[in-house]
Amino acid sequence: MKRWETEGIAELADLNLPEEEHLKKGVAIIECIQEIPCNPCVDACPFNAISMENINALPIVDYEKCVGCGKCIEVCPGLAIFVVKIINEKAIIMLPYEFLPLPKEGQKVKALDREGKEICDAVVKKVREGKTNVITIELPAEHAMNARNIRVR
Ligand code: SF4
Ligand code: SF4
Repeated sequence: MKRWETEGIAELADLNLPEEEHLKKGVAIIECIQEIPCNPCVDACPFNAISMENINALPIVDYEKCVGCGKCIEVCPGLAIFVVKIINEKAIIMLPYEFLPLPKEGQKVKALDREGKEICDAVVKKVREGKTNVITIELPAEHAMNARNIRVR
């Protein structure tokens, strides 16, 4: 049995991950791994980069079409979409954030992994308020595929 089935935590092996060339431009990584009837991410993408075989299927990102705009993050009820970009030693991650107060741009926060454990320091680069708030953080590239939340102090 997969870990997400018992604990609700996705592992990298469960995901359809982008290639290095895609991460350089920044692309959406969808960590939606449970087949449920849901598809607002498909309609939200202005570039038709997300597709699903049917309403119960898992969404697939076309990494050639995705430009990493993050619009899909705002509409995902499962908070399951992240945009990851890697520039040399740094990673830029856009993530959904539902807590208040919101962090401020320039603020130092702790990056958390999928289990909520602190993994490193991060700096908030942008705060986009919306249906779901989207926070952009910068952190060391080695944590790009594991940092999926933040703790604001
Ligand atoms: S990040 Fe933007 S371009 Fe990429 S899948 Fe999401 S909405 Fe589409
Ligand atoms: S909107 Fe979110 S939860 Fe719904 S199918 Fe898309 S990624 Fe999955």
